[in-house]
Amino acid sequence: MRYISLGSGSRGNATLVHCGAHAILIDSGFSRKVLLQRLAAAEIDLSVIRAAFVTHEHSDHAKGITSFCEHLNIPFYASFGTARKMEWTAHPLWQCIGAGAAVQIGSLAVTPVVVPHDAHEPLQFVIENAQGLRLGILSDLGAVTPHIVGAYQGCHALQVEANHDPGMLETGPYPPVLRARVAGDYGHLSNAQCADFIARVRWPGLRFVTAGHISEKNNDRNLVRQILAPVLECHPDEVHLLEQDDLSGWFSLAD
Ligand SMILES: [Zn+2]
Ligand SMILES: [Zn+2]
Repeated sequence: MRYISLGSGSRGNATLVHCGAHAILIDSGFSRKVLLQRLAAAEIDLSVIRAAFVTHEHSDHAKGITSFCEHLNIPFYASFGTARKMEWTAHPLWQCIGAGAAVQIGSLAVTPVVVPHDAHEPLQFVIENAQGLRLGILSDLGAVTPHIVGAYQGCHALQVEANHDPGMLETGPYPPVLRARVAGDYGHLSNAQCADFIARVRWPGLRFVTAGHISEKNNDRNLVRQILAPVLECHPDEVHLLEQDDLSGWFSLAD
């Protein structure tokens, strides 16, 4: 199993997970054109992409989904709340998913996890292959609940949100209402919340941690590195940060 971020941040998110003859796309906040360019740069054969999964209706996650899936004629999985908000419920390629009910795509089992975020029925995903290797993708949540800590135990790789620094958010350019939304329990994880989450799910089998959805206005990438390095027990320069406008490179999980 291997995975790659095709871009991460408030202007668009997409991740591809590939295992054998099957790959799945998690979110597309990019236009079809941009997504196809990034998939080409990742050197992935489009015919292996069998399905897309959508975390929630915010445009940085859902904007490019229907156009891409219609282009490849593949299903896209989203909660009923997300589908209703996006007016997808009559779309022939939409498949309904719900928290806790795993969906099998080839050898990949995708388990949706409910998270607190200001969307209609937001989900995040834990993806496990037939060998039991687990990738946890977690972004767009205002708080880490006990349920989330339980769902992400035993992951061999994590792609997790480190959205903002509370001090920078407070003094940054956002209006008070938006500031309160981002910092609230249904907003986004701060760097410290991200570090705390990693500390709670860390175990010897955890091989890769990447931090994403990093705010360009309310965060500083060096600060993210400094806050995450102690919990990852690595040098700040070794902390993997996702880029808004570039691929991450492939991360491979093998037995
Ligand atoms: Zn987002
Ligand atoms: Zn969101």
